[in-house]
Amino acid sequence: MNRLEKLRPASFGALDPLEPVSALKSRSPILLKATPAWGRTGAGRSWIRSLIASSPVILAPLASISTIITIATFGGSFSDFFSAVKDEGFWTILAKYGPQPTVQAGAAVVIWIGVQAILFRTLPGQTHSGQYTPAGHLLTYKINGLYAWILTHLGYGLLCWFGLLDPAFIALNWSQLIGAMNLAGLIASMFAFAKAHLFPSHPNDRKFSGSVIYDFYMGIELNPRLGANFDFKLFSNGRLGMMAWTLIDVSNLAYQYQTQGYTQLSLVLITFLQTLYVVDFFFNESWYLRTIDIAHDHYGFYLGWGCLCFLPAMYTIQAQYLGLYPTSMQKHHLLFIFSIGLVAYALFRSANHQKDKFRSSAGQCLIWGKPAEYIVAEYKTLDGKQYESLLLCSGWWGWSRHANYVGDLLFSYSTCALVGSTKVIVWTYSIWMTMLLVHRCIRDEKRLSAKYGPAWDEYCRRVPWRFIPGLW
Ligand code: NDP
Repeated sequence: MNRLEKLRPASFGALDPLEPVSALKSRSPILLKATPAWGRTGAGRSWIRSLIASSPVILAPLASISTIITIATFGGSFSDFFSAVKDEGFWTILAKYGPQPTVQAGAAVVIWIGVQAILFRTLPGQTHSGQYTPAGHLLTYKINGLYAWILTHLGYGLLCWFGLLDPAFIALNWSQLIGAMNLAGLIASMFAFAKAHLFPSHPNDRKFSGSVIYDFYMGIELNPRLGANFDFKLFSNGRLGMMAWTLIDVSNLAYQYQTQGYTQLSLVLITFLQTLYVVDFFFNESWYLRTIDIAHDHYGFYLGWGCLCFLPAMYTIQAQYLGLYPTSMQKHHLLFIFSIGLVAYALFRSANHQKDKFRSSAGQCLIWGKPAEYIVAEYKTLDGKQYESLLLCSGWWGWSRHANYVGDLLFSYSTCALVGSTKVIVWTYSIWMTMLLVHRCIRDEKRLSAKYGPAWDEYCRRVPWRFIPGLW
């Protein structure tokens, strides 16, 4: 079996466009031997550590609702929100200004999930493979997210055009929708937890930490599915979370127009950048199969509730804020920050594309015009089978170990800066992304060290910086 076959089984889906591979020769890759087990650590964590780690199960929904209240009722000022909480008590503020359940919002969320499920299931798409799981499974996925994104936005536009839907519907019913999405995210997480125990899709790819609450939070099943093909993770992360993002921005644009009679450049530019990010995601959806969300994270509250509720609530704060409080910096300041956002996006896309192209071609590609440099790392799955992975050491991946995160972070700070406010709330997205990506980097590197052992050490020796050379 040659290297390409060993890394890429016959069922591997369509490749991205590659440079001609015949003329390429990779530079003397190093082969380093595997360590015995990976992907199943976690058992034995103390109950107190598990409890602290799982605290977002309670805190994150309260944070999402508090943020909505702060924007809608306290002008986006956390200090005003906290003084009100001090004076009246948290639960009083929640009852007074928090989401009130309405049939309309509940129905909207049910229809949203139903329509996305139908598009996910029925639209045509190429079949792509994911990565080998710790138990040795290689799952296939139908990739049709871009069609779904186009149809969803076209459908929203047509409903508004024919007067069947107010384009500002989401902004107008935001608090109630967030309430309903919180509930939907909780139900999805509870269903995933029960399913993992009662009818798991791949029993040997489950991870039990020894703590029920931690299992609920981080998930038990790696790739829960309904039937053979309805993949929870691809559906909820991509279709429910990312798909909603652009609709929420557009709805806030419409709301600003309806209430002010104009749309400000700041909100237009933010919507443009975030649409670029979301469309990029769906355009490159097969790439997503090789990211941590799909390849390594288990499906529980963190991903289930996170994608259904946290992502729509927190990633759109800039648009929510500007929809209610239109502000705009001078045009040249806005354009300067916007161009930083574009550069950040280019770095994010280029780094992700390099890794994807490199992995899809089993290392037989050009990186920055030169044959890819890499380390061959061996690892074993639970069934005892040995595999090889390639670690790219040139291009962005030779500059730092997470250049894609640097691009993403810079992008998030640019979109927050475009709001033109020093209020902490408008920076929430970038603060969150900093915490998420730093934590993710540390957690992923721990896992990769266990998976590849000396090969990972060698990569860290060759590429010593995590984010920015000289800094960290
Ligand atoms: P990566 O795409 O960087 O994937 C990490 C995996 O890539 C590792 O686990 C490892 O997997 C493999 N890998 C690591 N180093 C190398 C190398 N040198 N050569 C080849 N493969 C390597 O991370 P994420 O999945 O976290 O993120 C993907 C993108 O999504 C990023 O740009 C990130 O910024 C963005 N993102 C955005 C979020 C948001 O909420 N907006 C949330 C999370 C991510 P293996 O086990 O296969 O070796």
